[in-house]
Amino acid sequence: MDEIRIENLEIYAGHGVFEEENRNGQPFFVNATLYTDTREAGQKDDLTLSTHYGEVSHLIHKCMREKTFQLIEAAAEYAAEQVLLHFPLVKSLSLEIRKPCAPIGLPFESVSVKIHRGFKKVYLSIGSNMGDKEQYLHEAVEKIKAHSFIKNVRVSELLVTKPYGGVEQDDFLNGAIELETLLSPIELLHFLQKTELEAGRERKIHWGPRTLDLDILFYEGVISQTKELMIPHPDMQNREFVLKPLAELCPYYMHPLFHKSIKQMLEELPR
Ligand code: ADP
Ligand code: MG
Repeated sequence: MDEIRIENLEIYAGHGVFEEENRNGQPFFVNATLYTDTREAGQKDDLTLSTHYGEVSHLIHKCMREKTFQLIEAAAEYAAEQVLLHFPLVKSLSLEIRKPCAPIGLPFESVSVKIHRGFKKVYLSIGSNMGDKEQYLHEAVEKIKAHSFIKNVRVSELLVTKPYGGVEQDDFLNGAIELETLLSPIELLHFLQKTELEAGRERKIHWGPRTLDLDILFYEGVISQTKELMIPHPDMQNREFVLKPLAELCPYYMHPLFHKSIKQMLEELPR
């Protein structure tokens, strides 16, 4: 990725744990590296195809001034989030805040935090087999689209499928979703679980009937093996109702552990 850099942007602000810091303020220095593709802007010599570093600098300045945080960690989170939300060509960024006058009581040059944040591509599976299934799925998709940290949502065709896992129950309606998000994997899981609960989901029988099931299939660059969150989803390779709609969205996406494309995994399912 190409980079646009802002170096040592000086901002006088009141972040700090001590009240005197909040009251009197002190200088902070911000370094930002924006990861983006400058090719087209460079070829056409056209600023509207790039990200204006002046506007980004002013936004960071505003973020640092309009709120007073205790921690530079918090100031960095807020500024990074705002830049990513306001400048869609910026895929990710690193943002460093230095605090050279921090009240440490020892000689030092500077203290700082540096964070890396960005939009991550995610694939979900979505399913329902109780009540007005289509309506449950529709409402869930609308809630996902409305989340301020989620963008570029694409939804597959919905598919009627027979239940899986041996429990006697109604047919399922299943689909897959592609999106980009600023939420971390666990934050995304909690948002999806909240959405399930709002749809009246009750966890009674494993693999039993449900108004809404939202599972994370892939989360860009992440392999997670905790019980709470397994990524890639551990059973997706066995489920036609997951692979089929997913193949519509991303047939050549590679499973990071099996090193097979979705299309290939679908073709290899036992008939
Ligand atoms: P299932 O989706 O297998 O039918 P549930 O929806 O009842 O089962 O989820 C059971 C648990 O699975 C949840 O408590 C959740 O923490 C855990 N889980 C682990 N990995 C994932 C994942 N990738 N997506 C969603 N839930 C997951
Ligand atoms: Mg689930």
